[in-house]
Amino acid sequence: MSTITNVRSILTAPDSVALVIVRVETDDGHGLGCATFTQRPTLVAEAVDQYLAPLLVGRDADRIEDLWQLMYLNAYWRNGPVLNNAISGVDMALWDLKGKLAGMPVYDLLGGRSRNAALVYRHANGRDPDEVLEAVEAHLADGARAVRCQLGGYGGSDPAGPDPTTRALRESLPGAYYSPDQYRRSVVDLFDHVRRHVGTELHLLHDIHERLAPMDAVRLARDLEPHELFFLEDPFPPDQVGWFRTLRHHTITPIAMGELHNHPLEWQPLVTERLIDFVRAHISQLGGITPARKLAALAEAFGVRTAWHGPHDVSPVGHAANLHLDLTASNFGIQEVIGFGAATREVFPGTPEIRDGYMWPSAGPGLGIEIDEEAAARYPVQPSVIGWTQSRWPDGSMWTP
Ligand code: MG
Repeated sequence: MSTITNVRSILTAPDSVALVIVRVETDDGHGLGCATFTQRPTLVAEAVDQYLAPLLVGRDADRIEDLWQLMYLNAYWRNGPVLNNAISGVDMALWDLKGKLAGMPVYDLLGGRSRNAALVYRHANGRDPDEVLEAVEAHLADGARAVRCQLGGYGGSDPAGPDPTTRALRESLPGAYYSPDQYRRSVVDLFDHVRRHVGTELHLLHDIHERLAPMDAVRLARDLEPHELFFLEDPFPPDQVGWFRTLRHHTITPIAMGELHNHPLEWQPLVTERLIDFVRAHISQLGGITPARKLAALAEAFGVRTAWHGPHDVSPVGHAANLHLDLTASNFGIQEVIGFGAATREVFPGTPEIRDGYMWPSAGPGLGIEIDEEAAARYPVQPSVIGWTQSRWPDGSMWTP
């Protein structure tokens, strides 16, 4: 038995991204987990410190499954992003701790490696097709084997030179504007341009980020077929999953979905009806490694592969958790990773390495990662109003970000 003596959150924002880490301490060790909900970090910290810590102190850290169920059911209302992230922070920390105590990496606790490193995809963004191509070529020179291409950010570039009516509408309704029609057409032109220059060997990906009306997303998936994408991501928001059946009837472009998923009923029908090819959950939004390994096993039974969400707002601890799952799951597909800045590496010794188009785990038991709390304190979290999620169409209507 390993008795929990303390549970606490650590907030830090190296490279200007608010991250939430949970540290679980026991009478014989400690573990770290990622609880990052970057848009609402202090709420998660409160859930950990005020509610999970008193629930957990004095209990046996060995019993991960039972503790997960306890945390999940204890608030009665469940499956929201704040509480799921808080649970995830503790859950990952318990797996990390168990590995440290056993002297083995988490991937060995999960059944051992199916592969030594995880294929990753990188991000290429630009204001025009040439700029995107330049970014793709820089990744190629760095050994990348898969690159996600976006023109002008999600939803494409802001339409240049709005007419007086559009300008007046914007002044009364500030937000992050884009034109869905311009976006959809420009993506096809972008992939024509990039494919022509890089050939067929490099895997290319694209993220719609729910920015289109559902039938326009279906149309884009069809229009991109000649470019044989590795996958097309998030064609619809989670509350429009009924559209996946229509999408499947009209295109063979592989589909990835799921970074916004919190509730099991959001992914179960997509997997069991084989409506997607890659499940893209943000692991801390599910509640950690414990539910993620169950989701991976469910997906395996239906021929769906994993492609866990891996943006900047997954901490290196969360990336390590992604990676340990990637290394074990037989149905692993690909791992998203943007890269780690100097400050992030300073705060998190043992951050996984990206090399030759793959991500490699650090040596060391557990998740193989630590946090330097003195360094973390030099990058305080400052909650702010989020602008990019205030996405609007040209007439001012709000749309899913
Ligand atoms: Mg995405």
